[in-house]
Amino acid sequence: MGDELEIEYCGYEARNNQTICTWEIKLASGVDWNDLDSLKEWTENKVNLGQYVGIWFKRINKGQFPPKYNLNIRGIGEDGRCAFCRRFRTGLKKKTKDNALSYSEIGKCDFE
Ligand SMILES: [Zn+2]
Repeated sequence: MGDELEIEYCGYEARNNQTICTWEIKLASGVDWNDLDSLKEWTENKVNLGQYVGIWFKRINKGQFPPKYNLNIRGIGEDGRCAFCRRFRTGLKKKTKDNALSYSEIGKCDFE
């Protein structure tokens, strides 16, 4: 089995003129939390996400092992509102490829 990063779309939430897209992160062997964090950092720095964007990981099974995380991407809910989400994922895809990881997405962002 190769090293793999897979994310699955869980839906979005609109709140105060902002949209938060949620993806569940599914890690296979060989990828750990630190790898993921550096991918995220790299992608945030390389990809122009605009001003009002926040990206964070959220532990969804506190106290259990192995840890599971959701990826939350927040931006302003106006025209092109999910460009930030797509841009982030495009960057992530490129970076995982550079790192010889396979990357896949299950489901599709509601704004695409
Ligand atoms: Zn999205």
